[in-house]
Order: sequence, then C-alpha cells, then structure tokens
Amino acid sequence: MTQKPISVRTRDILNQYGIILKKSLGQNFLTDSHVLDKIIRAADLTPDSGVIEIGPGIGALTERIADQAKKVVAVEIDGRLVPVLKDLFQTRPQVEIVHGDALTVDLHALVDEYFQKVNSLHVVANLPYYVTSPIVIRLLTERLPLKNIVIMIQKEVADRMTAKPGTKDYSSLSVLVQYFAEAKEVARVPSHVFVPRPQVDSAVACLTIRDQPAVEVGNQSLFFKIVRAAFAQRRKTLLNSLHANLLTSLDKAEVERLLREADIDPKRRGETLDLAEYARLTEVIDAKAD
Ligand code: SAM
Repeated sequence: MTQKPISVRTRDILNQYGIILKKSLGQNFLTDSHVLDKIIRAADLTPDSGVIEIGPGIGALTERIADQAKKVVAVEIDGRLVPVLKDLFQTRPQVEIVHGDALTVDLHALVDEYFQKVNSLHVVANLPYYVTSPIVIRLLTERLPLKNIVIMIQKEVADRMTAKPGTKDYSSLSVLVQYFAEAKEVARVPSHVFVPRPQVDSAVACLTIRDQPAVEVGNQSLFFKIVRAAFAQRRKTLLNSLHANLLTSLDKAEVERLLREADIDPKRRGETLDLAEYARLTEVIDAKAD
C-alpha cells in the first residue's frame, strides 16, 4: 500500500476529528517530507537521543523524531489536539504527549522524569511564530543540558539569530542566542509547504549549545540588561541609549566615562558592538555598582 502524502494525511486527520485550525496558536502544519527530513538531519539524532518537541500539532514531525530517537516528549498547548496525538501514537511508547504551554511547563521536571537514560538531549520543533522569541529565550536561559535546538521559525527571526555586528538584522536576540549557542541557518522554507499557508517565509535554524557561553561575564543579568538597553532605540548612540534606558541615575558625563573606560566610543550605536565588547562594558558598569 502506498503511503498517503502528508498534506492528505493532515487534511484527513483534521476532518476526522472535526478540528479547525487556530491562527491565534500559530497552527501552520508542515506538509513536506523533504523539509521534515532536513529538520531531522540537522538535529543529528542517535538511537540514544532524547527530544523535547514543542507544538507537535498532529504529529508529522513527532513521527519522524520517534523513528530516530529513544524518547520524544511533545508539549502541545491545544487541548483538542492532545487526544488526537494520543490516538496516533498509542502504539509508540517512546512518544509522550504533554498538554502544556512551552512558556510555563516545568522543563527541568520533564528532563528529570523522561530523559535520565539518554545520551544527548535536543529540542526539535516547528515553532508557533507568535511566540518564537520568548520560547527560544526560555530554552536558552533555563540552561537545560541541551546539545542543540533545531527549529522552524520565521525567516526574519532566523536572520536575527545568525546576524553579525554592524548588520541591519543584528539585535538583542542575536547577542542572546550567540552568547549561548552557535547559530546556523540550515534551510529556507517557502510558505506553500504549510497548511494553512502562513504570510511569511520560514527557515530552519540550528542552535548548537556551547559548553561555555561565548564570552565570560561575571554578572549575566546585568549583561542582558545592558544589551537590551543598547538596542532599545537603534538610532541612538550608546551613550544616549544607556543613559535613557538603564543608567538613569548617573549623569551623562559619568556614563561617557564608563564607556571610555571599557574602550568603547560613546558615539557608537549598540548594533555595532560584538559580544566581547558587551562583556567588557558589563565588567566596567558592574565594578562601578560595587
Ligand atoms: N509540529 C506541527 C507541524 O510541524 O506540522 C505543528 C507546528 S505549528 C507551527 C505550532 C504548534 O504549536 C501548534 O500545534 C500549536 O497548537 C502549538 N502551540 C502554540 N503555542 C504553544 C505553546 N505556547 N506551547 C506549546 N505548543 C504551542
């Protein structure tokens, strides 16, 4: 018997369960087996891998992950899809369906419960686009023992994650992602491979988690505050941005002195600083606060 194309399988399952997809939950389901293959290849799974999938939908990607890995825990927010997924995967004990919100579910508890016996831990997902950045920031800052995060995201967000200093896409997200991970775009994905078709093009990004952050920073929370303040108004100089958004209790001359002490021209803009410069600035500002 020939297997049904994924687009037909998707339509059949949705019809069978009477499910109308919700735009508000970013429900654009992937229907191209080549793209699914590319995602799986990028994750570099082994038969001893554990995978957290966020937003399994009706399981197109979940199935591929389950074929390659030891265990997949799929976290889905939409309660209508949970019984569908449980039906679909009832004969596959390596698949665990969790009804929850990726922004609030206790990820460390999931790791403790399901991934004690895996050799590597991965996140693989076709992410809901309305909430991509908060999910990725959470995955990175929770310091889970992840090897990599392979995600389908809006093309523009992939551009920001991989952007270098001085380019138009370089942003606070670039700094945060590159601090924790090596970010690489693996594939561009046109909108017509999704049902329904989103209004944007997509890309698959692979974030390989670093053993140690890219730069050494004593006060990590201050580092991120400085980065956010520096990018808050892109057209302003660093001096003005930091003065207006973070160092409000200092006078401008003092902020200028701190920048010079970090060997950074106060007239530069936040988008020109690399991670090492942000780290240096953090050390100087942190020392001043002592
Ligand atoms: N993995 C499926 C695929 O590739 O076809 C579906 C991907 S679809 C882009 C995103 C999925 O994430 C939907 O199933 C949606 O219900 C789910 N979702 C949306 N917000 C979520 C959240 N905060 N936590 C967990 N799942 C979420």
